[in-house]
Amino acid sequence: MFKMMMCKEATRLMSKRLDAPLSFQEKLSLKLHLAMCDACTECNKQFTLLHEVGHRFEVFVSDTPDNGGGAHNE
Ligand SMILES: [Zn+2]
Repeated sequence: MFKMMMCKEATRLMSKRLDAPLSFQEKLSLKLHLAMCDACTECNKQFTLLHEVGHRFEVFVSDTPDNGGGAHNE
């Protein structure tokens, strides 16, 4: 019998996914949990968004031409 994953575990997998690919079982467990849990679905959206923004930011930084002279804007 498949045991329902706890929200805490689902969140842990979402976070882990940003650092390393999940195993098939982990992905399946997370997917099943997200199908049943609105809170985690919202949370997953935030994680995905953050991850995408992070990647875009890396690209943005590495593609930025030298025009600021190393000035830092806080
Ligand atoms: Zn949940």
